[in-house]
Amino acid sequence: MQELHDAPLAPLTTFRLGGPATRLLTATTDAEVIDAVREADDSATPLLLIGGGSNLVIGDKGFDGTALVIATKGFALDGTRLELAAGEVWTDVVARTVEAGLAGVECLAGIPGSAGATPVQNVGAYGQEVSSTITEVVAYDRTTRETVTLTNEQCAFSYRHSRFKADPARYVVLRVRFALEDAGGLSGPVKYAETARVLGVAPGDRVPLAAARETVLKLRAGKGMVLDPEDHDTWSAGSFFTNPILTDEEFGAFRARVREQCGDGVEPPAYPAGAGRTKTSAAWLIDRAGFTKGYGTGPARISTKHTLALTNRGTATTEDLLALAREVVTGVREVFGVTLVNEPVTVGVDL
Ligand SMILES: Cc1cc2nc3c(=O)[nH]c(=O)nc-3n(C[C@H](O)[C@H](O)[C@H](O)COP(=O)(O)OP(=O)(O)OC[C@H]3O[C@@H](n4cnc5c(N)ncnc54)[C@H](O)[C@@H]3O)c2cc1C
Repeated sequence: MQELHDAPLAPLTTFRLGGPATRLLTATTDAEVIDAVREADDSATPLLLIGGGSNLVIGDKGFDGTALVIATKGFALDGTRLELAAGEVWTDVVARTVEAGLAGVECLAGIPGSAGATPVQNVGAYGQEVSSTITEVVAYDRTTRETVTLTNEQCAFSYRHSRFKADPARYVVLRVRFALEDAGGLSGPVKYAETARVLGVAPGDRVPLAAARETVLKLRAGKGMVLDPEDHDTWSAGSFFTNPILTDEEFGAFRARVREQCGDGVEPPAYPAGAGRTKTSAAWLIDRAGFTKGYGTGPARISTKHTLALTNRGTATTEDLLALAREVVTGVREVFGVTLVNEPVTVGVDL
């Protein structure tokens, strides 16, 4: 196991932000992961799990404890059943499943990070979420000190959320199991209107897997949502805020506020989100509150390609990023009475 001391964490994150970790370990086998976690827990040392660092906001002071990079490898395909080690790179996984002619995760192309982190926030994009294809998650349970297998139901998946996100100090994901679909080389039904339009099909149709993946990658690249070290619009954590889910009562008040602020004819985006709940668009709220693409004058700004991505233009600190995030949250709340919630995980800092 590789071990470093006083090691910078910024290079391990897609924001390129955050101070050093007292100790940085890199584990390449499940046994090493478990040993490192047990050792930290035995000595009551704070532990930070890191996959691809694409959903992490680490404070400028860094992390006083053990940061553990999970770099395990394993891609085992048996028919339509796939088992992945947590450290597998997700974009490679999607490419390989598409090459194997299997449907189910093709629209999750281009999402950075590790396979092991996908269940944590129930990664999703362009009409697919991993909760639709994950059958089981094998995890080390830090409470019982045992390796457990959780069924899909036990993972308690919801929009950008799961049991793992709800209880971050408990589970270390070791392996993720998926049931994919053999649709004769075709994708799953195309659910997202924008993808269907670009592919020239109706929502619900299937298309060749490679076409689905390539279309998503092209759409994502246009929004700065595919990592590119040369492009500061991608020095981000993707969407910085989740789309707010409002109760009927909250949505009614919000709608009235929108009419008051934007004029009678303006309707906010609204998508059904279960009984008595409506999801609206964080990007719409941010834009309408005056924080348009490219907003900001400092080293942390809103992406020039997507309102929902806060970015490091190269010389930002975490405090710069958080100052921008707080400005957006306050501005949106003042205009629309809705409080945005950050999607990335914060370490040693709060919004
Ligand atoms: C350009 C860009 C675009 C993005 N687009 C999307 C998108 O379309 N949809 C989407 O859902 N997300 C998106 N994201 C967010 C991010 O890529 C995902 O959340 C991804 O799954 C994070 O994986 P990671 O390995 O980088 O996790 P990290 O950032 O390393 O960690 C995230 C959290 O998971 C925990 N964690 C990591 N590995 C494990 C493990 N093995 N066991 C338990 N906990 C673990 C960490 O401790 C941390 O709390 C995007 C990010 C970027 C930078």
